Amino acid sequence: MNARHARYPFLGESRQAVQEAGVDLAAVVAEDDAVVERARERVVGALTSGEVGEPARSNRVELLSYPVARVLVSVVDEHVLVRKYADAEANAAYERFTADETDDSELKSVGDDASLSRSDLLREFDLTSHVHATQDGYDVDVPTYLLLSSSLRPDKWRLVNRVLDDGRVPVSEPELDTLLREAVRERVAEGLPLSVPDEVADALEGPETAVRDVLSEMDLTREIDTVVPELFPPCMQHLLDQVQRGEHLPHHSRFAITTFLANIGLTTDEIVDIYKVNPGFGEEMTRYQTDHIRGESSPTEYTAPSCATMKAYGDCVNPDDLCDAINHPLSYYEAKLDDEEDEDLEDWRERENEDGEDAEA
Ligand code: SF4
Repeated sequence: MNARHARYPFLGESRQAVQEAGVDLAAVVAEDDAVVERARERVVGALTSGEVGEPARSNRVELLSYPVARVLVSVVDEHVLVRKYADAEANAAYERFTADETDDSELKSVGDDASLSRSDLLREFDLTSHVHATQDGYDVDVPTYLLLSSSLRPDKWRLVNRVLDDGRVPVSEPELDTLLREAVRERVAEGLPLSVPDEVADALEGPETAVRDVLSEMDLTREIDTVVPELFPPCMQHLLDQVQRGEHLPHHSRFAITTFLANIGLTTDEIVDIYKVNPGFGEEMTRYQTDHIRGESSPTEYTAPSCATMKAYGDCVNPDDLCDAINHPLSYYEAKLDDEEDEDLEDWRERENEDGEDAEA
């Protein structure tokens, strides 16, 4: 496990180094306090400052803290945490590899072996045949460009705002670095949340509580508890439209929209009100099902189905660019809410309050 593995733990070679060292992650989680503490720092830092914190002195601790942090994120299992953690890891990687490219002092301080070039990253993400060096920067094949830029919000990234050159999108060096940061973010988020054996989850109980405490202090759940139907993912907008048009919905579709509405914070009464316009939804049954989904009349609180399940049931309708970057309708909604300026959201709430007051008057 060398300095480069510790500095860039998401690389395939870093994962291989962990495997070749015969590391048993369950034993590390149970016995290696330094690794677990650094993993906790990575995750808490991602939430509180958007940064993964200062690297540990030991390459081993720094490298192993990355897979342990992913396990910790999986144990907590909150969409907002997965997103913030992946962002923070990607930002750390971006800072490092752009420094490696441009800053001699950084190279000297970390040593050449620890550095990572743009070409290394292109190879890592199998992009060498899709990204072509030009005199002014790079040309990126359109499908690759769309894939990497799908979560980038500023309008300049939209394909309609780019000049196309023979089926390729010209980008500057800094823009390519931003696209590579996106590739890192995808890599970090890939597979999260992982399925974690009980004994590993139990060993991480302390850090899990610490992360949950930070989450509740930050009231991040507020993000998802805001109801802005305009920002719902296309699938849920479609289902909601069907409900409000009085159409019959199969059980899986009804389950999907009801869990989604419950997960984003609607009360049972509010959900029943929405369904009232649809005579096919008996109030009593809707109330019973909603309470069941919310875990009030059952031992389980249900979560809305993932995109994979929605697709399997034919409930994934009109997916858009953002859909390429997420794997859960709740993640779509969180990302949309995140994009909204606080001010816009405030305006929207004020409008809603005024409408509510008008309706009461
Ligand atoms: S990809 Fe996911 S979020 Fe997007 S429409 Fe399909 S199910 Fe909904």
